[in-house]
Amino acid sequence: MDGTGPARRLTGTSAAAAAELRRRTGTAPCLATVLVGEDPASVTYVRMKRAACARAGIASRHVALPASVSTAELVDAVGGLSADPGVHGILVQHPVGPHLDERAAFEAIAPEKDVDGVTTHSFAAMGFGLPGFVSCTPGGIVRLLDEYGVDLAGKHAVVVGRSAILGRPAGLLLLGRDATVTYCHSRTADLRSLVREADVLVAAVGRPRFIAGADVKPGAVVVDAGYHPGPVGDVDFETARLRASLITPVPGGVGPMTIAVLLAQTVQAAERQLG
Ligand code: NAP
Repeated sequence: MDGTGPARRLTGTSAAAAAELRRRTGTAPCLATVLVGEDPASVTYVRMKRAACARAGIASRHVALPASVSTAELVDAVGGLSADPGVHGILVQHPVGPHLDERAAFEAIAPEKDVDGVTTHSFAAMGFGLPGFVSCTPGGIVRLLDEYGVDLAGKHAVVVGRSAILGRPAGLLLLGRDATVTYCHSRTADLRSLVREADVLVAAVGRPRFIAGADVKPGAVVVDAGYHPGPVGDVDFETARLRASLITPVPGGVGPMTIAVLLAQTVQAAERQLG
């Protein structure tokens, strides 16, 4: 399942909507990115997101904070962006660092600007199937499955990982599509036998090549959300592709879809705020 083509098409739609909004209101959608510290992967992710914004005619404003920032200062900075009418969407790059209360920083994002879908408000809306901004990576995964015509109803979906930004919301969105969802995590007993039962397998575990081809049920649909230097994913692509009916590559699968959903949700946020 190639993510680059669908991501390009979705971004094209977002760019057209951004241009139309600018023509109508004189204002371009604006995404604020908040980066704490200089973790190379996070720096790269934020740079990629801002470059994608620029290509789609979305303005971006960058707030770089030192790794030594306190939770109160971080919450203040995010709160300032929430109150700023010139900013329509806010992205706080995860992870912010172990000494900081990341949840507090996320909750300082105004719900109408939560284009990365990280607040309790967005999470609850996702859980209840109500309108709102979804977590970008899970939202991208479901869009990609739709692009490839994967019918989720009645399928056994196994999500390996339960992080707040990825595994947990991915399971909620799959449940919302009538899949029967099993979550696996570090305390799961006999994880491999659960994984082998998956009709749809989402790997969001953060360990390179954690899922081997032998763990994939023949004919399964495999979504690899992992990303590690190489680059490689959480699935051993070369062996898993021999058993899967559909599988995402790394790179070029879930990653581009994540950014495309972020841009789409930023434009939607600006449309709602600008009227
Ligand atoms: P995370 O916060 O570290 O969460 C990892 C999850 O995997 C946790 O729920 C953890 O279980 C579980 N886990 C870890 N080791 C395990 C093991 N040995 N057996 C079973 N479960 C295990 O990671 P994340 O932020 O969700 O990211 C996961 C991966 O996705 C990473 O490779 C990351 O780079 C990638 N990612 C990609 C995108 C994208 O746009 N493509 C976006 C975000 C993240 P516990 O909860 O029990 O600790």
